[in-house]
Amino acid sequence: SITLIWFRRDLRLEDNPALIHALEAGGRILPVYIHAPEEEGEWAPGAAARWWLHHSLQALGGELARRGAPLVIRRGPSRTALEALVRESGAQRVVWNRLYDPAVIRRDREIKAALREQGLEVKSFNAALLMEPWAVSNRSGQPYRVFTPFWKASRALGAERQSPGPSAPAHLPGLSGAPATESVEALDLLPHIPWDTGLAATWQPGEAGARQALARFAEKALEDYDRGRDRPGRTGTSRLSPHLHFGEIGPRQVMAVCTRARERAAGGVDRFLSELGWREFAHHLLFHFPQTPTRPLDRRFEDLPLADPREVPFEAWCHGRTGLPIVDAGMRELWHTGWMHNRVRMITASLLTKNLRAPWLEGARWFWDTLVDADLAANTLGWQWTAGCGADAAPYFRIFNPVLQGERFDAAGDYVRRWVPELAQLPDRHLHRPWEAPAAVLRAAGVDLDRDYPRPVVDLAESRRAALAAFEHIKARP
Ligand code: FAD
Repeated sequence: SITLIWFRRDLRLEDNPALIHALEAGGRILPVYIHAPEEEGEWAPGAAARWWLHHSLQALGGELARRGAPLVIRRGPSRTALEALVRESGAQRVVWNRLYDPAVIRRDREIKAALREQGLEVKSFNAALLMEPWAVSNRSGQPYRVFTPFWKASRALGAERQSPGPSAPAHLPGLSGAPATESVEALDLLPHIPWDTGLAATWQPGEAGARQALARFAEKALEDYDRGRDRPGRTGTSRLSPHLHFGEIGPRQVMAVCTRARERAAGGVDRFLSELGWREFAHHLLFHFPQTPTRPLDRRFEDLPLADPREVPFEAWCHGRTGLPIVDAGMRELWHTGWMHNRVRMITASLLTKNLRAPWLEGARWFWDTLVDADLAANTLGWQWTAGCGADAAPYFRIFNPVLQGERFDAAGDYVRRWVPELAQLPDRHLHRPWEAPAAVLRAAGVDLDRDYPRPVVDLAESRRAALAAFEHIKARP
């Protein structure tokens, strides 16, 4: 028999349940990737994610070819492509690993029903999560809206006891005459102007890169994760997010490594596992509240008075020219590497949604295009959490002060000096508030405000008051 394996965002050969099922079914396998970004609606992969996808497909394709079952790449619509490949190969079975974005769930359901009607055996599996989003619910059978009870319930159901499945064997039973394929290059995923050198210098997309990132983290940073995770100037976190998003590694594999490290790194491991818990929570919310990528979960926020869009310095925010050093460092790190430290994601998002009172969705869309780890579940949760309008969100009145945040979490200034080099010579105590530095200090550091670095685009105290006043407007509503 022949089994078609439809690869999507599960671009790995280890712990891949669809692949293992295909092998256990016996016979030959046909690995397939279908390029159909339009089927993801307004959340088709952004520019940075397309860059990643290109390299990840190359890595997967190389590995599959080495093992004897080359990857066949086709263009969508997915259903048409699958039906054509079933005809061309004579496959009797189609398998894949599930995704949880609302548009993709709808598409997959339709395809599953259509293929089954044609007499094919169709099966889907969980490769992306520790627990399926529908497996966890509160006592009244409702989805959770608060993280702590969600994670407690997930753990009670065995989230931390999930172990990875077997890896694929060194030789895979591919078809002897595999159907024709497009090349990865033909999908035109790479940028036409070369802004991607910083990405290439930072990342190694693909399963081998994911494995190395996890090993490096377990060896160097896991033990100290609960202290190191909030310091953007250090490599204190795993940087696994793009690898997890594209399924080059799965959470069960990460869990297995953490569990082994538990004795030597207990505090770090527990904290890190709860971050994997946030990833699960994000998927739980997206699954149960599929409207949230564009609408606040807390509907009162639909009426929050916003700033006049002509007065929001959105371009300055995007390009790291706000005059607030930690914000600018973050936005430049994002532009250069396709990733930003979590603490700084919160600070930059708070500035945009609260001090500048721009719609959170505009920020979410900019992140969507520039993050290599852009993920509909995590990005929606992160933006709504920071904007105060999501599940278990930071209370609206908690407005991050970027100066105090910088002084606390980047006290020695490593992060700002790296990404805002024009301020590098300023002494620590002026680094996060250069506009307050005496003229002589600025001169000695070679900084001319206005010429080298802007003054703040917003008055932090005044804009904080305005944000709180806007909130008063909706607070009393039910
Ligand atoms: P680690 O600290 O090593 O954490 C390990 C893993 O846990 C991460 O790789 C990630 O998969 C998961 N995780 C950690 N924190 C969160 C969280 N708060 N929510 C969900 N999952 C989490 N994460 C994305 O993967 N994609 C996004 O598009 C995204 N957008 C965000 C937008 C905003 C405004 C904010 C505040 C956060 C966003 N995050 C997003 C969450 C978080 O910032 C990143 O997951 C994290 O910085 C990735 O770095 P890491 O792999 O080193 O994380």
